[in-house]
Amino acid sequence: MNPASYDIIDGIPHYKLFIDGQWVSSSRNELADDYNPATGKIFARSQQAGATEVKAAIDAAERAFASWSRTMVAEREEMLLKVGEVIKARTPEIRDLLIEECGSVFGKALWEIEYVVDAIRAAAGDARHVMGETMPMTMPGQISISVRKPLGIVAGIAPFNSPFLLCMKKIVYALAVGNTFILKPSEETPLSGALIADLFQEAGLPAGVLNVVPGVPAEVGDLLMADPRIRMITFTGSTRTGRHLAVEAAKHLKRFTLEMGGKSPLIVLDDADVDYAVDAAAFGVFLHQGQVCMANSKVMVETSLFDTFKEKFVAKAKGLTVGDPRDPETVIGPLIRARQCEFIDGQIKDAVEKGAKVLTGGTYEGQFFQPTILDGVTPEMRIYHEESFGPVVSLIRVNDAEEALKVANDTSYGLSAALITNDMQKALDLSMRLESGMVHVNDCTISDEPHVPFGGVKNSGFGREGGRYSLEELTEVKWITLQMGQRAFPF
Ligand code: NAD
Repeated sequence: MNPASYDIIDGIPHYKLFIDGQWVSSSRNELADDYNPATGKIFARSQQAGATEVKAAIDAAERAFASWSRTMVAEREEMLLKVGEVIKARTPEIRDLLIEECGSVFGKALWEIEYVVDAIRAAAGDARHVMGETMPMTMPGQISISVRKPLGIVAGIAPFNSPFLLCMKKIVYALAVGNTFILKPSEETPLSGALIADLFQEAGLPAGVLNVVPGVPAEVGDLLMADPRIRMITFTGSTRTGRHLAVEAAKHLKRFTLEMGGKSPLIVLDDADVDYAVDAAAFGVFLHQGQVCMANSKVMVETSLFDTFKEKFVAKAKGLTVGDPRDPETVIGPLIRARQCEFIDGQIKDAVEKGAKVLTGGTYEGQFFQPTILDGVTPEMRIYHEESFGPVVSLIRVNDAEEALKVANDTSYGLSAALITNDMQKALDLSMRLESGMVHVNDCTISDEPHVPFGGVKNSGFGREGGRYSLEELTEVKWITLQMGQRAFPF
């Protein structure tokens, strides 16, 4: 990291805010501790933005918008591709921060970085496809066109679980179409935000185009909401926070997109290859120790396969290595917070009290939760409805595909769904009737590409991210007419 981005005090780096191309301290000089979830130790501290800093960031983004929005598309494309090169060159450093700050296991951290490089290429290319239209004339001599314009300043609020990917996906598309950006990273992963600023600074991004202001969530959030110069809030995080932000955005008449929580179902039909289904179910719920919005935390298996699937799934979970996320062999690293372990423990105890059986796992040590499979989960139990955001899965026996569909749709969420079958007619029929924004056949529920319409329905999402869907969310359509000669007015 750029030495200007931090001061070392008592041996611990204290990271600054990134405003108008400069690393600055907050006038309140308040700091938040950044813990390594694997060790529980503080490894950094981060300055907390207050009203003065948020206003300075908005002022800078406003000034920068005047020039950035008028840059040629090739210039924006070149800048993004340069950031991609910087990221590739600094991959080990980014990987290590994702491991240290958010407890990513080795492979997940690398995947996150590769995704970002891919997203940068996609956004750079997509910037040339911000298209308008011509429309039929409504009166003689009139030319009627629509153009797409950048919105202005976009504010991004992102969660902790994939802090590099989820922040960058928002930033690169917003910048590609000429917006300027203010990032409020998660309070759990503020350094990932600082690192993003550092990468753009190294690539030579003009001052003010990207500003990073970690701080007390509700405080920074309210300040961003209240300023009319912020034209859009793009949020990824829990449904609880998303609902609050939607209400605030409505009050301030701001555009918003929400990518929120999930309780995603995986359906295994009776013609499935059991070993393949077990691998899909395990990857889909245990990746990043279950801290993935798309995790298939509810697995429905048709009765003829149920017992075999259960036996093999339990054996698979028992074989996963839990421990040091720096070790490339580790599959399950730490959960982000101690209270997340307590929350999941509460869900499991509630389920067991109401008749569920823990087939494996169900315990934790420090912030390391064992991969857990529950049998006999019913709608009376909290875990049937609530997101766990941990390595816990409910296994549910169903008589047929119709019952599986009913259980899959019996949730307030609707992010991703998956089914394993070779019967493509049945697969398509179920895909159409599953209440979710994304469905994957013969796969698990975890899948994301930079150019696809990523997002959920019901309590999981509002709007879409990725490719031309991001371009549409991040631009305004303007209607322009050109009257050739004079038109006839009625009076
Ligand atoms: P969270 O809602 O607690 O926090 C998300 C972000 O919102 C953080 O930056 C936080 O500081 C901020 N925030 C919290 N309160 C705020 C307020 N009052 N005003 C403004 N900002 C505020 O979520 P989390 O625990 O960081 O992340 C986990 C959640 O995110 C899970 O529910 C998960 O499913 C969801 N998620 C969704 C997607 C998706 O694409 N749908 C992707 C990743 C995570």
